[in-house]
Amino acid sequence: MGQNNNNNQPPQNNNFFNKNPLLVFAVFSIVVIMIFKTFLAPSSDSDVANANMQTKNVAYYEIKELIKENKIESVSISDISIIAISKGSPRIKYIAQRVGEDSALLPLLEEKGIAYGGHTEPQWFNDALKWIFYLFIFFAIWMFFVGRMQKNMNSGILGIGNSKKLVNSEKPKIKFTDVAGIEEAKEEVVEIVDFLRHPDRYIRLGAKIPKGVLLVGPPGTGKTLLAKAVAGEADVPFFSVSGSSFIEMFVGVGASRVRDLFNNAKKEAPAIVFIDEIDAIGKSRAAGGQLGGNDEREQTLNQLLAEMDGFSSDSSPVIVLAATNRPEVLDAALLRPGRFDRQVVVDRPDFQGRVAILKVHIKDIKLAKDVDLEEIARLTVGFAGADLANIINEAALLAGRESKEQVEQKDFLEAFERAAIGLKKKGRSINPKEKKIVAYHESGHALIGELTKGYTKTTKVTIVPRGIGALGYSMNTPEENRYLYQQHELIAKIDVLLAGRAAEKVFLNEVSSGASNDLERATGILKAMVSMYGMSEVAGLMVLERQTNLFLNGGQTIKDYSEKTAEAIDKFIKEKLDERFNLVIKTLEEYRGAVENTVKALYDKETIDGEEFRQIIRNFEKENAMPTRIQSDIETNATQKESDSLLKIDG
Ligand code: ADP
Ligand code: ZN
Repeated sequence: MGQNNNNNQPPQNNNFFNKNPLLVFAVFSIVVIMIFKTFLAPSSDSDVANANMQTKNVAYYEIKELIKENKIESVSISDISIIAISKGSPRIKYIAQRVGEDSALLPLLEEKGIAYGGHTEPQWFNDALKWIFYLFIFFAIWMFFVGRMQKNMNSGILGIGNSKKLVNSEKPKIKFTDVAGIEEAKEEVVEIVDFLRHPDRYIRLGAKIPKGVLLVGPPGTGKTLLAKAVAGEADVPFFSVSGSSFIEMFVGVGASRVRDLFNNAKKEAPAIVFIDEIDAIGKSRAAGGQLGGNDEREQTLNQLLAEMDGFSSDSSPVIVLAATNRPEVLDAALLRPGRFDRQVVVDRPDFQGRVAILKVHIKDIKLAKDVDLEEIARLTVGFAGADLANIINEAALLAGRESKEQVEQKDFLEAFERAAIGLKKKGRSINPKEKKIVAYHESGHALIGELTKGYTKTTKVTIVPRGIGALGYSMNTPEENRYLYQQHELIAKIDVLLAGRAAEKVFLNEVSSGASNDLERATGILKAMVSMYGMSEVAGLMVLERQTNLFLNGGQTIKDYSEKTAEAIDKFIKEKLDERFNLVIKTLEEYRGAVENTVKALYDKETIDGEEFRQIIRNFEKENAMPTRIQSDIETNATQKESDSLLKIDG
């Protein structure tokens, strides 16, 4: 099952030569040698050649004996052999190998009055053998490399090999019920199933069916699974390739493979084409490469773009799903309308999601009564679906090793611990102590962000470790999408950045290293306010730092001020940070209960959305008869993304 059975291979692919080229060559060589041997056996000099003569191979000394016994009439000598013709009517031709220089031979022949001469050996025969041998070696090496190349590209250059592996095609039986814990992503792809099932409904109205959907998220979160489920639900064929299989290929092969892929898909449309690791081919041409770039990747990418632009949304659509965990490196051309203009985030599951995924995977497992999936879900913060599936399988293997009848909770816990060690090495935070710190730290950021005028509204508070694939997120320059900040907005940013650290101090009595990036950014903003924006008492309107031309030398910061000024600036920045920090602490202490409740909610659910969060604050304010400080809804949407990314900094 799962193979592409199209008859798109030329028939000669199956003939004997293509399957066994080495064997054929060997047989061919042997035949040639036999022909040489039979028809062109070495013939001696015309002097001594006589078809009627009997030939005898003898030893050198025997010929010498015959000469001495006067039985020889004539002799012919070469470097390596000596041929002697006997006297008498039934002549015999004696042939012997020579053994080194024999200075006594010629005098002997003279003495006996034997006619002697020379002959040359038929060297060409040896030469031919040598050549066949060389050719054979060459051919073998060549075949070896061709074979390897084919393994790399799974493709049929020279028609050798098997183009079946080129594209995987199957009709998946996977359904949406097999995909759990990524409900938001699922909701977004549900409509694709309808596009595939009833394209006419949409086309009739003049709508264009989307061509490309990008699934964005960390490895193992179920992107491939989701794509297969779409095909399974719509009951259409699923063609898949991996972007990384295009690297290491020869120029032109990648492009023709893409062409093949789409041709096959179009033949069986409606269909799903799935491209895993699309960043391998779709890397931004600007960012991706060194000078000159990678021709093969570029050609493959261009072919992909051409194919996507090529097919029209007709009654049998081909929809391309692609997966990546690095959307930020993708070439902008890929994301243009009519290509991958839809993006679906597939994030790591939260607590409920993990329970759901565990439930999907224990279906075929014999469970003991003591198994508590919620406990496992609670332990596995930050695990992706694939990690959870793995734990279940490991647990079953552990139980099997001990010949148990059922898998027990103990087995799950042990499997979890093993997996946790592996994930810890990859730098994902999962231990309970860290979870507590992260919960307070994030609640601090969120609370100050929500209460501070000039800052954006909270959209989500979470302690689920973030995937590398946060959309459009850049850790150093979240300011990118804005050009102007008023002074109070910059201060608000500083306050929110300091709030993570402040919360640790207020609620845990001890600070952690987790705030280093926050502090770096807060300091950076203050520095810029002083030295570039003219927003401080120490420097006034004086600009102390400027950026040189970005294009000339990569942009350097030129500082021109004295040591004394530098000291004054440092002092100012430090004092300002302390001042803001203390104000933030005051607010946090005032809202202590709200923070505690937020942390509780985060422990429960790991992720709460902005509205839930605001409700916690409102409730707290009501209970304590405080006026509400929650910001109004206006003027907040534009930069929501930014506040989102701020919360993504740690965690
Ligand atoms: P990705 O393509 O995002 O790297 P995969 O779809 O290949 O991840 O996931 C690998 C395996 O992990 C799946 O075949 C499935 O068994 C399991 N898995 C991952 N995510 C989920 C999920 N959300 N629900 C159920 N199983 C999942
Ligand atoms: Zn922080």
